[in-house]
Amino acid sequence: MFGPGSIVGILGGGQLGKMLAVAASRLGLEVHIYAPEPDAIARSVAKFNTVAAYDDAASLTAFAKVCDVVTYEFENVPAQTAAIAGENSALRPGALALEVAQDRLTEKTFLRDKAGVPVIGFKDVKSVFDLKRAGKEFGWPIILKTRRFGYDGKGQVKVDSEAGAQAAFDSLSGDLIAEAFAPFAREVSIVAARGLSGDFAAYPLIENLHRNHILHTSTCPTHSDKGVAKDMAKSIMDALDYVGVMATEFFQMDDGSLIINEIAPRVHNSGHLTQNAGCTDQFEQHIRAICGRPLGGAVPAHITQMTNLIGDDVAGLPALEADPAANIHLYGKGAPRPGRKMGHVNRIIKD
Ligand code: AMP
Repeated sequence: MFGPGSIVGILGGGQLGKMLAVAASRLGLEVHIYAPEPDAIARSVAKFNTVAAYDDAASLTAFAKVCDVVTYEFENVPAQTAAIAGENSALRPGALALEVAQDRLTEKTFLRDKAGVPVIGFKDVKSVFDLKRAGKEFGWPIILKTRRFGYDGKGQVKVDSEAGAQAAFDSLSGDLIAEAFAPFAREVSIVAARGLSGDFAAYPLIENLHRNHILHTSTCPTHSDKGVAKDMAKSIMDALDYVGVMATEFFQMDDGSLIINEIAPRVHNSGHLTQNAGCTDQFEQHIRAICGRPLGGAVPAHITQMTNLIGDDVAGLPALEADPAANIHLYGKGAPRPGRKMGHVNRIIKD
């Protein structure tokens, strides 16, 4: 169990790392940021900093040795980086969560076969022939995705019919996966934590609205799921022997049933609303879990809504500052760019 004075290492220095660092600091812990960017925004709230590449074995070893526990704020931490961190410190969540979450084919296979949870129909695609076969089996349209490094709708294309298969296949590079199209009514997520002894706490279901493939608004609690989503998240986290906060993203159908889209082995944008929901927020929850401490309460006191401030949205800051209901969180990123997450606003919409 790590407490005040212990050092939490974080791989990555973006806004998630920054908010994790603030939460750790609130618990009396010290933070060490490891990232290649000298100006990574999380550095401004960390006592210790390493500027080095993720494949710099010597720097990674030195970093991990001085940290009591190492965590990460992004899922594309290279396997070798995770291995070195795990050999020289406690890596939480562990390397298996990264391996599973980094590759959509490995992920969906693990979720279906090891965690026993429902995932959308999928097929490994090595050729246009495979893609056409997926279309015949699942019916068109098909979603063709890169297995790795896809985010915010990047690295994926909707294929409406067999006639479009070749062009779609040619438009993406790297290993590919085909998914059946989910005719969902809404997109929802569960943010949950699992502690060192397997203890579990999940926030209620969160409803997510996207704009231009980027998360725009999250609201929690939303439509009841009769606890099914929490049970699925628990099955996944148990199967991964997971420690920390993890998000599970679902497609919810008209009849309320849920199919898993993907998991994120980290704190998640849809969980930012917990900062003002009147319970332990997801950042503190993650720090508590990885430090082997008891999990905090995950029952919100209010219905809370988060809206991302993306790109030029920050121009609306004066109006937000004049709004007493707006809880503003800015990341300190400097110049806004289209699609760049600059901050978010949490609002209690019902007590
Ligand atoms: P992803 O990068 O997998 O999270 O996909 C980004 C977005 O594309 C999702 O939030 C959905 O809106 C949409 N999408 C992804 N996969 C599917 C699918 N199999 N069926 C329908 N929509 C999808």
